[in-house]
Formats: sequence, structure tokens, C-alpha cells
Amino acid sequence: MAKTSSHFAGNYAEARQKFLDAAKGAGLKVQSHANPNKDPDGGALFTDVVLAGDPRAPNLFVGTSATHGVEGFCGSGAMVGFLREGLTEERPKDTAVLLVHALNPHGFAHLRRVTEDNVDLNRNFVDHAAHPVNRDYAEIHPLLVPADWNGPGRAKAEEGIKAYIAKNGHPAYQAAVSRGQYTHADGLFFGGKGPTWSNRTWRAILKEHGAGRKRVAALDFHTGLGPRGYGEIQFERGPSDPEYIRAQSWLGGEVTSPDDGTSTSAALTGYMALAVRDECPNAERTCLALEYGTLPIDDVLGSIRADNWLYARGKVDSSQGKGIKRDIRAAFYGDDDAWKSDIWNRAVDVYRRMLTGLSAG
Ligand SMILES: [Zn+2]
Repeated sequence: MAKTSSHFAGNYAEARQKFLDAAKGAGLKVQSHANPNKDPDGGALFTDVVLAGDPRAPNLFVGTSATHGVEGFCGSGAMVGFLREGLTEERPKDTAVLLVHALNPHGFAHLRRVTEDNVDLNRNFVDHAAHPVNRDYAEIHPLLVPADWNGPGRAKAEEGIKAYIAKNGHPAYQAAVSRGQYTHADGLFFGGKGPTWSNRTWRAILKEHGAGRKRVAALDFHTGLGPRGYGEIQFERGPSDPEYIRAQSWLGGEVTSPDDGTSTSAALTGYMALAVRDECPNAERTCLALEYGTLPIDDVLGSIRADNWLYARGKVDSSQGKGIKRDIRAAFYGDDDAWKSDIWNRAVDVYRRMLTGLSAG
């Protein structure tokens, strides 16, 4: 196995072990937050955190992985590599580096994008007393979650989706499905009715390690959108935002935004960087996502639909269920040397430029 590929794991348990071993090898202590659920083999689930550098350094870089569970193979591999290859030691004196491994460990272990409660963690950071409204989602929910997956219900649903896209265009369809919804608990991109375990854990981590800093830069690893192996640097709001302007200067103008059509992502409600705003209110914040392509968008959305259907209407242990799990893994993890090498090179490049920008102030 190529050296870079060896940073990446085949499942959650292996990924966690590699992260723990790499932290030990780097002489760093691991802080573990136990999730109350289990992995498919009955093993325990944790969000693991390591801090390299001074707990009181003015600047903090924080990397997060597996916000979207099954996407965790990517961020985990990058973090294990950072620890094994001394990247955490490249930090300037005034900067500490925090790595958060498997923010949604249940989704990672069970090969789901969502948390144990079917919540899209990256839509869960909203005021749960006043949820954003997504009427377009309500219109297509019955098409997205049909009664059957291989029978007439599905066939009819596909026709309905085709008609919706023909009428409204693919970007409008993608936005309706994916920007976040708070009404259908058995549906896709459900933002929850309250803060989920991973939400509370992320806030606790930020409160402990980020709240006292002058500057916080955050990078959240994702997969599933864009050209295979390419890492798009995404900002969640518009180009006039001071945070965006700063990020652009750090990253040579490569940052994308949903507001000017440069991002492969729709504009989202309740994304996880909002916790950085809430928990580190006095810090200058620069929060980005690194989104790597895997398969074509309709294959990726199809795999999310299938997985959602499986837990809402199907049987995970059936042969159909196993096929759906194989497909969703492939839709979010480009499990080959070329893809892993692309992920690694871009991760190192973005990390180094963010550290430099963060420390320059
Ligand atoms: Zn994602």
C-alpha cells in the first residue's frame, strides 16, 4: 500500500485506532467523548480530540471530520497523516492545532451521512424554537422516500423527480432536497427538532478549546460534491462577508460561495460553523469546508435517498440493505490510491495556507 493510502482506514474502528496510535506517536494526549450508541459490531463510539500546542496560544486551527458520518474516511485519513507526518508540528508558536476525529461517529460506523437520530448535523445548528421553512422539500418528500425501493412506488417517484427537474432545473431540485428541512423526521437532510449529541459535543469542544482565543480558523472535511478527487474550498455565506474576504486572501481566491454560484453546494441552513460563532463570539473567525468530489451528483443523491429509504422503510440486514450500504460507501469514499493521494495533497496545501494566514493575522 502506498504510504499516503495507509493513513486511510476501511471502517470507523480502524480509523479510530489509527488516529489514537498516530496521536500517541506524536506525543499528544487524546480526549474522548463517548457517544451513547454502538457500532454495527457492538463496539463503542467516540469523538476523539487532540490539541497540539499551547492551550492559551492566541490562534487556533481546528479541523473536523465525519460531520457527515460516512464522509469521515476522508477527513480521518488527512488527520492521521497530519499527526504521522509532523504537520501538527509545523504550527507557528502563536498557534495551536486541534483535530476533532469523528464528530458524528455513529454515522461513520454505520455508513450513514446522518447521526443516530437521522439528523443532518450540518443542518442542526439553528434556533430550534423558530425553524427555517423549506416548502419545496415538503412538495418532493413523497418522491424522495417512496413506499418501496425496487417496485412500482420507486418507479413512479423517479418519474415525479424527472418532471420536477424538467420544470424547475437541477440546481433548484438540489437546493430543495439538500438545503435543510425541519418538518420530515424520516426524510432527507433533516435538521432535527433539537440539538443532537454531536451538536452538543462540538459546542463543548469549542467552548473548552476555542472560546479564549483571539483568532479561530476552522476546516470541516466533506465528500460527495464536485469532480472526483478535487477539493473545493467552500464558504457558507456571501462574498461581501469579511470572513469570506479574509479566507480569499489566505487561499489565493480559491474559496467558493453559494451566493455567487461558484459553490457546488446549495446555500444551507444550520451548518456547523455557526457553532464557532456561538461558542467563540470574541474570536476573529474564519470557517471553511473542504469538499472533495467522489461520484456524479445524481449517484451521490441517489445513494443518500436509498440509505434514507433503508432506515425509514427497509431492512438494513437484508441483501438489498447490504447493497445500499456498499453504494453509499462508494458515493462518499473514493477507496483507491489516486483519490487518497489527491485528498492528502490538497489537505496539506489548504492546511498550510490556513495556518500561515491565521498566524499573520
Ligand atoms: Zn458533507
